[in-house]
Amino acid sequence: MDLFSYWHGFYNDPWFWQFPMATLAISMVSFLTVAIPWTIIAWFDPVSLRKYKIQQKPFEFEKFFWPSIARIIINNLILIGVLIISWPLLKLTGVHNTELPVWYIIIAQLLFFVLFDDFMYYWMHRYMHENKWLLKNIHSVHHRIRNTCGINGNYMHWIEYVLTASLTLLGPILIGAHIYVIWIWVIIRQFEGADGHIGYDIPWNPAHYFPVYEGPVYHDFHHAKFKGNYAGFLPYLDKYLGKTHIPAYLNYLKKKKEGLTPVEIEEQGKRNKKK
Ligand SMILES: [Zn+2]
Ligand SMILES: [Zn+2]
Repeated sequence: MDLFSYWHGFYNDPWFWQFPMATLAISMVSFLTVAIPWTIIAWFDPVSLRKYKIQQKPFEFEKFFWPSIARIIINNLILIGVLIISWPLLKLTGVHNTELPVWYIIIAQLLFFVLFDDFMYYWMHRYMHENKWLLKNIHSVHHRIRNTCGINGNYMHWIEYVLTASLTLLGPILIGAHIYVIWIWVIIRQFEGADGHIGYDIPWNPAHYFPVYEGPVYHDFHHAKFKGNYAGFLPYLDKYLGKTHIPAYLNYLKKKKEGLTPVEIEEQGKRNKKK
């Protein structure tokens, strides 16, 4: 058998299209579903919503809009390449499209994916900050933007994009999940990724219904202050894995509980600094 037909056999396989390719497509559509409306809001920057802006300075919309689109396209093309190359291995994993598990097993698996991915992401992200080479050459790309809007969520070095995507698939591969459960999981994962960058802390944001999640403010402070708040989604990890919470973020949560809006919190902080 020549090399071409050997490879052709893999890609002629419907499972190749259902597992890595459809999963990637669903993941991108989910990201854009959250990112696009919030990016349009950030673009118009309506006066009525300014009190909910986490950082009062203007969004870096014009500077990073097209670069973000370009990164999304290039990073996904590279990821497609990586998935094609690794398909012979991915095919051997326990991921399947046979019988779906019962509903409570599906819920338990999704919970496991969220917790496992967030735990692993915390360490990967923290290491990218602590290792000077990785910070300078890879992770600093994502940190070029200090005041993010939705579409900036996937503005990152392609290596970070591939690593983050691999981490997302690691949980499902470990337990050999059903493909439909993986699709639900990547939708959740991309909602997390987009929501963390929307730049507004609005009380009616549906993401607030997710337990333990504190909303976009958690990751927004990571962009604003650079050090700390390393988890992808769930702030409890900073508390228990080395006190890496950003103090200004903890102060923000306290003031928010007292009923202050983001703009009032920032103004109060400025007044206190002057004193
Ligand atoms: Zn970072
Ligand atoms: Zn970010």
